[in-house]
Amino acid sequence: MGNQLESLEGWGFPVHVSPGGAARGRVIADQAERMVTWLRSVTGEFKIPPLYVVGRDDWDSVAAFPVYGMPHETPDRVVVGQEPAEFWDVVLDSVEPYLTAADRDELRRVYGDPVSLGRFADLLVSHEIGHYLHGQSEGTDPTSFWLREMLANLALQGYVTEVEPALEDPLLTVVRVVWRSTGSSWQYSALTDMHHAVSGSGPNYVWFEFGLQTLTKRLWQSSGVLAVHTLIDLLHGPVPTQDEAIDAIGKLDPEVAADLRRWPAFPAS
Ligand SMILES: [Zn+2]
Repeated sequence: MGNQLESLEGWGFPVHVSPGGAARGRVIADQAERMVTWLRSVTGEFKIPPLYVVGRDDWDSVAAFPVYGMPHETPDRVVVGQEPAEFWDVVLDSVEPYLTAADRDELRRVYGDPVSLGRFADLLVSHEIGHYLHGQSEGTDPTSFWLREMLANLALQGYVTEVEPALEDPLLTVVRVVWRSTGSSWQYSALTDMHHAVSGSGPNYVWFEFGLQTLTKRLWQSSGVLAVHTLIDLLHGPVPTQDEAIDAIGKLDPEVAADLRRWPAFPAS
């Protein structure tokens, strides 16, 4: 059993933290609230459930995902780690053999030496909040799965670009380095297999997210909030086929659609 959680107030949603975690909880809650405020200006009102920022001892009793520190959302909670998670070191270790000297320099420039992905990982609460745009009555088909992730990534990208542009480098550098470092070495690599990867190795799943983030960055640049609305509409309508989903994105950005069709054979950008 974990500890008794502490409840904090001051945001438009309840916040619960592990003992001793109030300062960190406030930082994450502030960021979550900035995200909610911006996203409501784009999409209108939507609700998010309580935010949990918890330590290792409380993770198992609060989280729906076993790996400590991996941010995630469920219908009744957003869960974020209180302490830095080794998980991100595991992701970097998985691509280490493929990194060039230039990749290593880039990682150190943005994330420090030794490299610590905390500045990147702290942004992911905004991705989780983006998931509340598509509601909870969801298709379990492969296309809806990656569309939901693309929507959450688009929300994150839009927020960073429009509200905290200084964080674009921390958001996108690890995305770029990991995406260009690997590709054929994963158990799952077809876009329609992303829903399988969620129960496979963590780094494999992250690689899918980074491929989508690469395309999402371009989709935000070309189409902005129209892309957010297009993905929301796709996810609230009849379950689209893979072709229907990519065609709809192609109306916004033909090059992003072309890269979705040739996934994963497109460059990091
Ligand atoms: Zn997600």
